Amino acid sequence: MATGIATKCIHEGWKPGEGEPRQLPVYQSTTFKYDSSDAMGELFDLEREGYFYTRLQNPTNDAVAAKICALEGGVAAMLTSSGQAANFFAIFNICEAGDHFIASSAIYGGTFNLFGVTLKKMGIECTFVDQNLSEEELDKFFKPNTKALFGESITNPTCSVIDFEKFARVAHKHGVPFIVDNTFATPVNCRPIEWGADIVTHSTTKYMDGQAVGVGGAIVDSGNFDWSKYPERFPGLCSPDDSYHGITYTEKFGRAAYLTKATVQLMRDLGSIQSPQNAFYLNLGLETLPVRVERHCKNALEIAKYLKSNPKVAWVHYADLPDDEYHDMMEKYMPNGTCGVLSFAVKGGREAAIRFMDSLKLINIVTHVADAKSCLLHPASHTHRQLTEEQLIEAGVAPDLIRLSVGIEDVNDLIADIEQALNA
Ligand code: PLP
Repeated sequence: MATGIATKCIHEGWKPGEGEPRQLPVYQSTTFKYDSSDAMGELFDLEREGYFYTRLQNPTNDAVAAKICALEGGVAAMLTSSGQAANFFAIFNICEAGDHFIASSAIYGGTFNLFGVTLKKMGIECTFVDQNLSEEELDKFFKPNTKALFGESITNPTCSVIDFEKFARVAHKHGVPFIVDNTFATPVNCRPIEWGADIVTHSTTKYMDGQAVGVGGAIVDSGNFDWSKYPERFPGLCSPDDSYHGITYTEKFGRAAYLTKATVQLMRDLGSIQSPQNAFYLNLGLETLPVRVERHCKNALEIAKYLKSNPKVAWVHYADLPDDEYHDMMEKYMPNGTCGVLSFAVKGGREAAIRFMDSLKLINIVTHVADAKSCLLHPASHTHRQLTEEQLIEAGVAPDLIRLSVGIEDVNDLIADIEQALNA
């Protein structure tokens, strides 16, 4: 029985029978064969379970989604082509033109852009809020057409920890789901569903993959949000879908209604699937996730302590540091550690930050986080460069902030590289 997270990472998802491959096979096939026309027809009517076209479902992808589902403690999950697709689907599955949702302003720049610019063009309005506001202050942002509340468990790039219980309480008070992007914490360090989240998303591109080989995403449905309690707020889930002969997802699929709709409707129409080959690589990454995450956190804590003690460093944010402002949140929600990403600034502002980064030899400037190799970037010049000064401040991204993703190399080599660059 797989009960521990490390055992689940190895054994959930693909469960080979007698004489079957020990490792998850790659079902590199777009289509699946049937002997009768009726059987195929039933699949199209959602009257029968089975594979018929990889854009909707594929056995390799499903095995990996099932593993992520087990890790997060959900009832159903799907893989997407990227983390962007996962967050887009998570919102678009319940929001349409004329709807509104609320998101923490301290989120990944790409998600900020998706929510604030692209969804706006589709008629979906997002209000960005400071996630440290009180419940009463957050209450004021809800409107009759608000459909969801969104945040990241550990924010990219500011590395703050969200107060899950507060966000879940506020969302549920207003009858909407709390959606959490759990990319940075991973289910090894935090399982948002245990703290009241309804939907969990991932950029699997990051720690889950771990080797920077495949872009991907995932959505996990907790099955806990009772959509049928609010039929007028969520008509897409609670009223008949004409494209499936009038099926109502909540009636037919119960606790898996949200995820089923996302698969059979959004994936069918928008087609952002993860390739089975990438799902195979992702599964290899998941097998070693707990070992790697532990090492990432250990290295990051040592580097955070080193940076803190260096007089050339202006400030360091890493919630695992005992004096960090998010340390209490970290101890409550992810007591084994946050992740390998930390933010800091060198004295001398933006110019000094650039000079420091250009002097590094082992740690590279890379638009990525959360893989085996240490890397860093300057969000104001890179991932968040499309944001105005005002939006940068709103997102908590100081102009001198450097985001460092600590890898799993020997920590002494990393510290030596940082030291020579600080001295340069
Ligand atoms: N969510 C978070 C927290 C991220 O850091 C990222 C990418 O950096 C994304 C979502 C988007 O994921 P992807 O690059 O896989 O589309």
